[in-house]
Amino acid sequence: MSTGPLIKGWCPSAWRPMETGDGWLVRVRPPLGQLSKAQVLALCDAAETFGNGLVELTSRANIQLRGVSETTWPPLMEFLVAHELVSADPATEQQPQYLLAPSWQAGDDTHQLACLLQLRGSELAAMPSKVGIAIDAGELAVLGDTAADFRVERSIDGGLIVRAEGHACGTPVGTIEAAVDHLIRLTHWFVESGGNDAGRMQRHKVPLPAWSPAKMRPASACVSAGEMPGAALALGEYQAGMVYGLPFGRAAAAALRASVTPAAVSHVRVTPWRRLWVQGASGPVEGLISDNQDTRLLMDACPGAPYCAQASVATQPLAKRLAPDVKRHSVHISGCAKGCARRSSADVCLVGQAGRFNLIVKGDAQSTPVKTGLTETEVVEYLESLGAL
Ligand code: SF4
Repeated sequence: MSTGPLIKGWCPSAWRPMETGDGWLVRVRPPLGQLSKAQVLALCDAAETFGNGLVELTSRANIQLRGVSETTWPPLMEFLVAHELVSADPATEQQPQYLLAPSWQAGDDTHQLACLLQLRGSELAAMPSKVGIAIDAGELAVLGDTAADFRVERSIDGGLIVRAEGHACGTPVGTIEAAVDHLIRLTHWFVESGGNDAGRMQRHKVPLPAWSPAKMRPASACVSAGEMPGAALALGEYQAGMVYGLPFGRAAAAALRASVTPAAVSHVRVTPWRRLWVQGASGPVEGLISDNQDTRLLMDACPGAPYCAQASVATQPLAKRLAPDVKRHSVHISGCAKGCARRSSADVCLVGQAGRFNLIVKGDAQSTPVKTGLTETEVVEYLESLGAL
């Protein structure tokens, strides 16, 4: 039983699975954040054949299969490579993760930037596996609340900027080619100035180089509705398909398979908000969320015990127990103080420690609790007494 988070300092991948409480965790990076219908069906089959039948979405728009074993991993990898879900070359997984604004269109700036970065990925400096690059070059930046270390965005004057995390402004770069040149140069500056010791750009408290001044603000995020999902990516039906949420970031492979079964479905965009945009789909699917009023959308819960070896409490049963009674407050349930499921503060944060819950009000998993050592029932009683349920 653990009393604090174990910081591993690296991210699992397909070629480098991580041992967790329920076996190996294999993380798949959908190329350009998109999967074909055939690839989604293959992932569902893979989850059921080689894992525990669950599919998870991460806050970086990756897909996780769990419950893989030493025996099932080799055939799983063969299967994933055959379906072009994983590169046959493990070295490509060492390149930083690219997170694309999910509404990109073929040939637009976000798409062109991602393609050029993929081509020139080997020119980026070797950085810790957690370092990521957000490609968010639509009219307005939509990925501001997601984890990234370097961002390509549109500035308030409409030009492209490259922005380092931790800085409100970015450097104007002009063209797509110049943006990629600048990003590559910035990653080398990051490494040469000691960034790998800091681990992430946000923690790298070194002034930016003179050739990369932070002087132009990004255009802020928007919410759009109608034909295309926008920044908030509201659930429901669009002309371009359905946006579904996964309850607490996970779903049975069978539910995912059902979402892509209609003949009109072509592709699925994987988003960093634990939502899937299924292009060509329509109507609700059992096991997925399609109602914006669903109270589970106010909640974040990590896998917890027994799925994560760091967890001392089961998070999912408490999340399901609280969901019908949560009204307007955000709730974060974390198996340990690492707080994987949510970076930002929540109205109520419940953190496992030594088999009990600590309760934090308006904070993240590492904030100071107002109550400690609560059982699940005591948590419910205390939240009722606060009027939070
Ligand atoms: S926050 Fe949850 S998923 Fe992350 S390490 Fe802790 S128990 Fe595991």
